[in-house]
Amino acid sequence: MHEMGIVTHLAKTLDETAIENNLTKIGSVTLQIGEVSGIMTDYFVECWDYFKGRHPVLKDSTLKLEQIPAVTWCNSCKKEYETVKYGRECPYCHSGETWLLKGNECIIKEIEAEGGNNP
Ligand SMILES: [Zn+2]
Repeated sequence: MHEMGIVTHLAKTLDETAIENNLTKIGSVTLQIGEVSGIMTDYFVECWDYFKGRHPVLKDSTLKLEQIPAVTWCNSCKKEYETVKYGRECPYCHSGETWLLKGNECIIKEIEAEGGNNP
């Protein structure tokens, strides 16, 4: 239930944002999800629909998902490579001394809303 936890947290954040900014309705939310974050987007959308029914401010909202490609850094040869294609071993020097640069995130990129004090 990884996704449900994230959506719960997200819905709470959006509720608080709406209250703080006097928003009456959230139109769309753009989320960036890392390629190796472990989030299944289909299931994520299902969770979102469930929360839409429970949070009036989200009732007419649209969820937009953007995927962030995963990139790994090799500390031995100082190169970057595609995580999904090559995994933990560097394709250039076959070192295992590598770490994920990006691709594990779940970020709210943009919220479009009605009401509030938009410029
Ligand atoms: Zn390397």
